[in-house]
Amino acid sequence: MTTSAELFERACRHIPGGVNSPVRAFKGMQRPPVFMERARGAYLFDVEGNRYVDYVGSWGPMITGHADPDVLGAVRERLDNGLSFGTPTAIETTMAELICEMIPSMEMVRMTSSGTEATMSAIRLARGVTGRDKIIKFEGNYHGHSDSLLVKAGSGALTHGEPSSPGVPASLAEHTVTLPYNDIDAVEQCFEEIGDQIACIIVEPVAGNMNCIPPQRGFLECLRRACNAHDSVLIFDEVMTGFRVALGGAQAHYGIHPDLTCLGKIVGGGMPVGAFGGSETIMSNISPLGPVYQAGTLSGNPLAMAAGIALLTKLREPGFHDALTQRVETLCHGLEERAVAAGVEMISQHAGGMFGLFFTGQTRVDNFAQATACDAEAFRRFFSAMLDEGVYLAPSAYEAGFMSSAHTPEDIQHTLDAAEKAFVTMRQV
Ligand code: PMP
Repeated sequence: MTTSAELFERACRHIPGGVNSPVRAFKGMQRPPVFMERARGAYLFDVEGNRYVDYVGSWGPMITGHADPDVLGAVRERLDNGLSFGTPTAIETTMAELICEMIPSMEMVRMTSSGTEATMSAIRLARGVTGRDKIIKFEGNYHGHSDSLLVKAGSGALTHGEPSSPGVPASLAEHTVTLPYNDIDAVEQCFEEIGDQIACIIVEPVAGNMNCIPPQRGFLECLRRACNAHDSVLIFDEVMTGFRVALGGAQAHYGIHPDLTCLGKIVGGGMPVGAFGGSETIMSNISPLGPVYQAGTLSGNPLAMAAGIALLTKLREPGFHDALTQRVETLCHGLEERAVAAGVEMISQHAGGMFGLFFTGQTRVDNFAQATACDAEAFRRFFSAMLDEGVYLAPSAYEAGFMSSAHTPEDIQHTLDAAEKAFVTMRQV
């Protein structure tokens, strides 16, 4: 039998860090990442034959569980027709119609091959239509790895951004203003001072890349108001929240209408897909209709469209999101109860089908500073103990957890039993 440790050592010889996306590497976990062989429903199975109840779900897409027979069937059905044509196909229109029906703020949509491309293109469009360069993002929000978005906060609202990765030109980063999440005053002050230079705000309407942080009451409304007042474009990055927080995404859940929406993950059913869209007026600026250039050799790939359409169609089953939310609440409530019983300071936050666990004595966490002040070492010990008990959580204290409709009450009970043991183990270390 080949072990994960052996595979990791081999992978590290020819793949930087042994992984094709950094968070998979279990950095700081003092154990090698687990190499998976297959997955079905709520479970992942590793190369050593161990089974895990999975709360990562391929970082979001697997909302009906892994290897969903309807999704696989839709892909299989099209497989023999060929993988890609580089021409228009009818299935791309079916996908566009479906998205626009499910998310009413989108009248037109362009498919991409990743979430990164979707946010990058949406920002180019916002800059193109406003003729402005500056963008606002929020500390701890992640929108993919394009240059404008790999920028961390300066001190104070109007400090010019600094790159958070070598390779991002300072001259580009200076156009990105980073503000604290959920800080209405900071947004208002920024717009008061440089509102006429702001092309767009891009925001995760529920933050899922600094653990799980829902918007405080009035925050999204404030963004909408500021953009309206200054003719700036409001972009909701719903790559994670789209079809997960509610059928119509976070914008339906919170009742805020963005100008542009970015999608990914669920929209591809597990295949490499992203999308961005908005009103016909704004989207008509995209090439070939308008001057803002955006393209992709494999964009709208027919197999990816088939997978995504099959998955989105299943989510329209009445009550799907209510049941998903109920599962999340059962899990979070059960975990909090067991933490209290074990004397461990831990709270949970959730929105629809996503959740987060924070090892903190605080009663809520609303921004990046508070998220990073949580006990990361306690999380690492909890993560490792849960893995040993057959529960696969995201290997980082700053990632949201994802529930699927394949998680049964027994799976949740298994998770709670595992946590009961893990809370004891982590206190002994
Ligand atoms: N936006 C958000 C909110 C995300 O969570 C992610 C990925 N986790 C992205 C954009 C980037 O998507 P991708 O990894 O597909 O490029």
